[in-house]
Parts: sequence; C-alpha cells; structure tokens
Amino acid sequence: ELQAAPTPAPTAHSEALFARARAVTPGGVNSPVRAFRSVGGTPRFIARADGAYLTDADGTRLLDYIGSWGPMILGHNHPAVRGAIADALQYGTSFGAPGEREVLLAELVTRLTGVDRVRFVSSGTEATMSALRLARGVTGRKFIVKFRGNYHGHADGLLVEAGSGLLTNADGALGAAAPSSAGVPEEYAGLTLVSEYNDPAALDALMAARGSEVAAVIFEPVVGNAGVLIPTPEFLAALHRVKTHGALLIADEVMTGFRLSLGGATGLLGLRPDLICWGKIIGGGLPVGAYGGRAEVMDFVSPQGPVYQAGTLSGNPLAMAAGLATLSALEADPDLYARLGAYTTALADGLRDAASAAGVPISINHIGSMLTAFHLDAPDGSVRTYTDAAASDTKAFARWFQGMLGRGVYWAPSQFESIFVSGVHGDAELNATLDAARAAYVDLGR
Ligand code: PLP
Repeated sequence: ELQAAPTPAPTAHSEALFARARAVTPGGVNSPVRAFRSVGGTPRFIARADGAYLTDADGTRLLDYIGSWGPMILGHNHPAVRGAIADALQYGTSFGAPGEREVLLAELVTRLTGVDRVRFVSSGTEATMSALRLARGVTGRKFIVKFRGNYHGHADGLLVEAGSGLLTNADGALGAAAPSSAGVPEEYAGLTLVSEYNDPAALDALMAARGSEVAAVIFEPVVGNAGVLIPTPEFLAALHRVKTHGALLIADEVMTGFRLSLGGATGLLGLRPDLICWGKIIGGGLPVGAYGGRAEVMDFVSPQGPVYQAGTLSGNPLAMAAGLATLSALEADPDLYARLGAYTTALADGLRDAASAAGVPISINHIGSMLTAFHLDAPDGSVRTYTDAAASDTKAFARWFQGMLGRGVYWAPSQFESIFVSGVHGDAELNATLDAARAAYVDLGR
C-alpha cells in the first residue's frame, strides 16, 4: 500500500529567514547549491542536526542524505567529535603558533594515506589551489589539465571546463577552454587545459601534444561533482601515463578521502598520485583542508622551500580536534566501510525496483557510500562521462526531489551531485527512504 500524497510540512520560518537572508547575502545563501535553484521551492533553514537527521527552522525532522556535502560520515553531532571539540575549547580557540594536535593529525593522515608530509589549510579550495602552485613550483611549468565536469573548488584557474568542442575550441587550440564563471580572466583560464573524464585516448592525445608544458593533471578519483562517475581501469592507466611527461598527478580526494576507504579512493583503486588533496571528512565538520605527498615534492613548500603558502587559522586547534576524533573513530570501526557499502547497495537496489515499477527511467552509479540516480534511460553503470550525465532529465529529478522532501527525505538538491550515506543510516532509515521513493516515483510516473 503506497503512502498518500503528503500534507505539506510548514515552511513559514524557513521562508521568513530566506527573505531576510536575501536582503543581506547574495541569493540568501553562503554557497550556491543551498539556494535550491535547480529544484525550486524554499530552501530549508536548518536549526540542528543529530545522527542521520536534520531539524529545520519549522521543526520538521528530515532524513539527511547530504551529510554537510560529505564531512558527516559518522552522522551529525557525533558524541566523540563533540567531546573532542569541547575538550579543546577549554584551552583556547586559536594560537597562531604550532600545537600538538596538528602533529597528531599529520601523523594520523600520513599513516592512513601513505604520504610523507601533509600541510593543513582551511578548505578544499585552498588545498587544490595550493597543490597546483606547488606543482608549478616543482616543475617550472605553467599549464594544468583538468577534466570536464570535475569540481576542485573555486580558485580562478579551476573554474574552467570545456565548451562545446571537447578538445578543440574555436581557435583550434588543443585542450583550450573557456572560464565557467564571470570574473575569471581568459589569461588564467588559458592556462587550464580540459579533457574528458573516462576518455583515455583524449588524455593521451592532449599529453602527446602539450605534455612538456603541463605542470599537473588534477582529477577526482571518483567523481562526485557531475553526479557519481566511476573511473574505468583504462582511464586510471592513462592518468598514470601522464607522469612519463614529467607532469605531477594530483588526486583531489576532498570528497573521496576517508569516505571510500581509510586510504580514500587512492587506496581503494590502487592509485599512485604525486599529490593528494583532502577536505570535508578530514575536519569532521569543522573547516579543514590539506594536501600532501612525497617528502621531495612537499619540501618545496615554505618555509622549507620556495613555494609560498600560509594561513592565519591553518591547523586551528578546534578543527584539528574534530578531524582527529573523526579519523580515529573511523579507524576504530573496521567494519564501517562494509556497512556503508551494504546500505548503499540496498538503497540502489530499492530505488531501481521502485523506479522501474513506476515506469520511471533511471540509471544508477554507486560506489561505497556515494550514489547518484540519473534520470535517464540507460543501463546502470553506463553513465561514464560528464556528457553522459548531462543528458539527464533535470525537470524529472526536480519533481522527484520535491516528492522526497515532502515525505521527509532530504536528498541532494541537484541531479549532478552525489548523496552521502553515514554510519548511522540503518534499517529504519533505509525502509523510510524506500517508502518515500516508491511514492515519489509513482507520482512522477503519472
Ligand atoms: N574538490 C572536490 C572534489 C570537492 O567536492 C570540493 C567541494 O565540494 C572541493 C574540492 C572544494 O572544497 P571546499 O568547498 O571545502 O572549498
């Protein structure tokens, strides 16, 4: 028996807060996807978060699949993380001088991931931006390569993706691409070459033509930012070949680090990047990013070497405490990743059955605790590139999203995002999600 269409939850407090926010903040939000532009409706202002649930400003409890866009792998307001922050808080909030927690977290990160040295910053954006400066400093080269539909934060040179021509734009320059934001000078964008994810031949061709000018190739080892895209073994092999051109390989594990395994996607997929970037989970919900690699590369960073990089709040004691508590809890629970994978597989199976029963075409990509259900008619696992993903019916997704939200399930508010499962999503959450999904697909199929 399917649930009846839900009675709409009250949103008066969120609406009032959104109106006030719009008066004082661009678009009413401090990060664009929170504004619900691609799904419509009022963004829910959140008053608190516990375990797998958010409570909005109107008192409605929502089952959360965003997990703050990745950090909350243990669930919200985890007692060990809250306790570690509370403990650190007794001793002051920022020193502007080194402290023991930075050493402890660096020791833990290097042990879990195999890098020799790590430098802490305050966001994923800073991590990728700094890693690129380091790669340019080490190689003495200017150009970088990124992949269409991969997101590495909002530094100028990374807000670039291919235009309509994949490898060739109007002036015929191989790999050249246009900025994807106003305010990014063409000269900056011109130093970023763009290739297609999961297209080893395109990457080989680009490197054959331009490889001697390329400082680094940066990539998401599993893409979350075009929806989930899983790399093929052939593409991973092509990524490793970029090293033969003297370019550094930078794995952006801001999303996948400590999520797909304790050693990240790098550990799971057997990658050997020169540099790795982290964010999200490494700070356990507080602002932390990091980048790391072999000693001889990292020792180019100041004050050891000539590549400048600094931060007033870098290594902040509260943030380090949250990161230490989170990574320690992950390490103390060796079955966690298997449980996350089992939940996500069951979720994928349930969504597939529900959609197909309602006659709604979807194509699911999932790995570990990351999943995207693309609204398009293709076999599961066949969406491999940004171009494949972009064929999704975003209007159908938006209607399904609203159907889920109306039934108390807070999915990521864009077709081109991953959802994130946490360690406190259990049977009750799975059943509630699939009940809501069955009804939302039926509404959509009507
Ligand atoms: N890299 C990846 C793969 C990301 O997913 C993100 C954020 O979503 C970033 C970098 C940027 O991180 P931040 O938002 O902390 O600056």
